[in-house]
Parts: sequence; C-alpha cells; structure tokens
Amino acid sequence: MPAIVAAGVPRSAVCRPRRGRCPNAVRTPSSAGTITLAADLFDEPDSFQDFVVAHERLHLRVPNHGCLFKALMTAHVSGWRSF
Ligand SMILES: [Zn+2]
Repeated sequence: MPAIVAAGVPRSAVCRPRRGRCPNAVRTPSSAGTITLAADLFDEPDSFQDFVVAHERLHLRVPNHGCLFKALMTAHVSGWRSF
C-alpha cells in the first residue's frame, strides 16, 4: 500500500489566527474529520508546512504519538524528527 493511502483524508480544513502563545501550529483534528491550521503556518517554510499537514492527517487515523504514528510519519515525511 502506498504510504499516502495510510493517512486520513480530512473532510475539511480550517485556518484560524493562532490563539495565545501556543507553540503548535495546528490543533488536534476533530472527530468529525476537520483539521484546523493556524493562519501563521503559511509563514513557515514549505517543509514545515508539509510536516504539520502530514502530522495532522495522520491523527485522523492514529490519535496518539505511538509506534504506529511514528512509523507512518517516517513513511510520509523524511527527516520529520528534525522538526
Ligand atoms: Zn500530534
């Protein structure tokens, strides 16, 4: 199976201004399949944006940061651990 198939496909994505000083660029996906991206994510380098979107898409399928999540991140985003 190609690695991209393993990632969840969001039903929608929303961009909102970041609230407070939260260091995360993205909030956890909702159970309804919506991922919410901080608007200032688009000021970040493309490689970081790819990492964040892949991270949140995987959370649609895997809710934690366990071994499966890490293996899928490795399959989707090479060098993701450097972010
Ligand atoms: Zn996460």
